[in-house]
Amino acid sequence: MSDILENVKKRDPHEPEFHQAAEEVIDSIGPVLEKHPEFRKHKVLERLLEPERQISFKVSWVDDQGEVQVNRGYRVQMNSAIGPYKGGLRFHPSVYPGILKFLAFEQTFKNALTGLPMGGGKGGSDFNPKGKSDGEVMRFCQNFFMELNRHVGHRIDVPAGDIGVGSREIGYMFGTYKKLSNEFTGVLTGKGVGWGGSLLRTEATGYGLVYFSENMLNHINDSVKGKTCLVSGSGNVAQHTVEKLLHMGAKPISVSDSSGFIYDEEGIDEDKLAYIKELKNVKRGRIKEYAEKYSSAKYFASEKDQSSNPLWDIKADCAFPCATQNEVNAKDAENLVKNKVVLIGEGANMPLEADAAKIVIDSDILYSPGKASNAGGVATSGIEMMQNYMGSYWSKEQVDKKLQEIMKEIHTNCLQASEEYGFKNDYVKGANIYSFKKVARATIAQGII
Ligand code: GLU
Repeated sequence: MSDILENVKKRDPHEPEFHQAAEEVIDSIGPVLEKHPEFRKHKVLERLLEPERQISFKVSWVDDQGEVQVNRGYRVQMNSAIGPYKGGLRFHPSVYPGILKFLAFEQTFKNALTGLPMGGGKGGSDFNPKGKSDGEVMRFCQNFFMELNRHVGHRIDVPAGDIGVGSREIGYMFGTYKKLSNEFTGVLTGKGVGWGGSLLRTEATGYGLVYFSENMLNHINDSVKGKTCLVSGSGNVAQHTVEKLLHMGAKPISVSDSSGFIYDEEGIDEDKLAYIKELKNVKRGRIKEYAEKYSSAKYFASEKDQSSNPLWDIKADCAFPCATQNEVNAKDAENLVKNKVVLIGEGANMPLEADAAKIVIDSDILYSPGKASNAGGVATSGIEMMQNYMGSYWSKEQVDKKLQEIMKEIHTNCLQASEEYGFKNDYVKGANIYSFKKVARATIAQGII
């Protein structure tokens, strides 16, 4: 097994995030390979670690000053064993093939966990939407999709949003798609309600995270009700995590952005959340402004090279990292353990560094990996695809009911799989084992191809 990881590292030495994600899965599935020699014989693991296809392309566009700009666009079509490629697009200056490969790899397992027929993919660009005008974002999206269009399709590969890609960007890309193909099919998810989008798709990742966490807590006869909660990030996932926590009687006390975080001792209520939504989604401002508006809040700017993030050292019952990968390091994890946090639910993809995850797994904190607890977003994308295929719309109640069922089922499947292989209550191992077996069986059934 270690030779498989060595080989991955040797082939692509400059992709640390992908190595990290691969190592976590490899660590989990040892006993599965022991029990299923056919998985080893067919080299399923080696095959899952190699993307089926990786596309890299140039995106030229014109900024508001009339200057030509050049960015890179990508799509990693990781695995289609159980359905068409499915996964978001990320627009952020940190995007490079290694990040997208890790995200597409995670997505393959996450999508398998949802129980819906979706393979794994991820794409994006090093384009930085921060500070760009609507016109610049539109021209970038149009040029990006002009190329991506030839590689996607509603039964081939269905992209959606991720960091830096929300309803505005999906709208511009969908418009470009229609212009090019002269067809109204669900080639993207996260579309607006009224033009092919699903009710609750926007809310689904955060809501699903809280539903999943409630399942974990119910399992130990507890509940999120009354819990004080740390949330990082202030984008789509963080906003709707805060919203669902409020619906369920919990008390969220923090949110953050790349410049720092706010700690609101009195709690973020519905009105304050509405302010955050307006600030982040409409004004596209900084979270610092929250502390200027509400005197109950303190703002902490991120220090350059800080050894730990003071956000994770605030006393609370639950922690929901919803910002980005590797935002929680080993020192942060030690602080969370020291402060006796009951639950850590990952809203972002791989927000804990490998050392941090190890510290948490060795403690008695309930800990869910993003591929399980943030799967509500892509699950609702799957529900959007179903509606598009059927040419109809579901009510909000129908979508919410299905989302809750899916999160419950993922929770049960993780627990059962971990228990079957002797890792009782280990959600990380359970998620990896359950999804790996599902994709592995499909891979073998479809032959060496
Ligand atoms: N980017 C989201 C994720 O990480 C959503 C993907 C989708 O809806 O296709 O799962």
